[in-house]
Amino acid sequence: MNVSEIRKDFPVLSQTLYNKPLIYLDNAATTQKPIQVFEAVEEVYKKYNANIHRGIHYLSELCTTKHEDTRQYIADYINAASSNEIVFTRGTTESINLVANGFAETIINKGDEIIVTEMEHHSNFVPWQMLCKKKNATFVVLEIEEDGSISIEKLKCLITEKTKLIALTHVSNVLGTINPVKEVTKIAHQQEIPVLVDAAQSIQHMKVDVKDMDCDFMAFSGHKLYGPTGIGVLYAKEKWLEKFPPYQYGGEMIQNVSIEKTTFNKLPFKFEAGTPNYIGAIGMGAALKYIEKTGIDDIVKYEKQVYDYAVEKLSTIDNIQIYGTSKERISVISFNIEGLHPYDIGTLIDKNGVAVRTGNHCAEPLVHHYGINGTTRASFGLYNTKQEADMLVKSIIKASGILMNN
Ligand code: PLP
Repeated sequence: MNVSEIRKDFPVLSQTLYNKPLIYLDNAATTQKPIQVFEAVEEVYKKYNANIHRGIHYLSELCTTKHEDTRQYIADYINAASSNEIVFTRGTTESINLVANGFAETIINKGDEIIVTEMEHHSNFVPWQMLCKKKNATFVVLEIEEDGSISIEKLKCLITEKTKLIALTHVSNVLGTINPVKEVTKIAHQQEIPVLVDAAQSIQHMKVDVKDMDCDFMAFSGHKLYGPTGIGVLYAKEKWLEKFPPYQYGGEMIQNVSIEKTTFNKLPFKFEAGTPNYIGAIGMGAALKYIEKTGIDDIVKYEKQVYDYAVEKLSTIDNIQIYGTSKERISVISFNIEGLHPYDIGTLIDKNGVAVRTGNHCAEPLVHHYGINGTTRASFGLYNTKQEADMLVKSIIKASGILMNN
């Protein structure tokens, strides 16, 4: 993988901040976008923008075709059985809320149980917590191990005949832990329990195959995979989408409307009320094509080298604690320096051009598990380098020195 060539595709990376080269290590929050995505978006606006699924004119038909081709491309990319299983949403959060609404309407009753893990992003925690509250169901949280992994044995102990869903993240946005989702679906399906996988932090870093994982639902966001904001995907097996009622009502999700009654469109349109974000979808398709062209196997290999190097170098910093030490980790490193506030570290290293995230990373139950309120988080993408990891380390040492002396 030629990273210096790749970096040229991401114009934002070549700037300086405070007279220092930008070192962007906040990829778990959102990624930067390659020119191929701008071009795809620009092409729609310049050449064939028109509302989709409605017009009979040339532009509308062309735009509809490009949009639906993108849906098919995404279905193929994640190895879905059909493009009917791909619902466009605003992002991971909306995808999960759509499933939670479906469960609220059709599956969950008083006394039922939903299992999540302690390492979930609030997006895959609060919707289930609220659903359980509303339905008088039980919200069950699988505690994490000290190394930031989950124990399959402990999960097995939590499953009962009342369990109606297991929802877990593929990769933790705080620890970088890769969860054994395939093992989880295997165990869950033995008892006919569906599994939702939050792939917000995995799809851009590894091969994700829904047939191989055998998950029932999977959610991800365009903006975290080098694509535009405001677009994401819910993958769901058709049997679930057939069962669920619409999530929102309006144009395009209907079949017929009369004063007496309304019937709904076929899949997946039943879940896409209103004018879809076709520009975002086409942009997200271009981002996935960019990943595919770069080669996911090469990305995995390259990112692992940079990640392992960064972990090794960060570990040499005095009084640093890195959270999450399980063997299977990628992209994300969360840490604290004893006696220093993550916010202060983040603010000072920003002055060196290093962009990281500080705080609880929308995963309060997880950070509380470690008895802290937050961490500094560096998260890597396909364009980051070992030299940037060195600069991160150097900046932290400098910032720590300044803070310790104050
Ligand atoms: N799940 C995980 C693991 C995440 O890291 C995030 C965002 O950081 C989300 C869900 C929410 O994604 P979005 O804000 O794009 O809906």
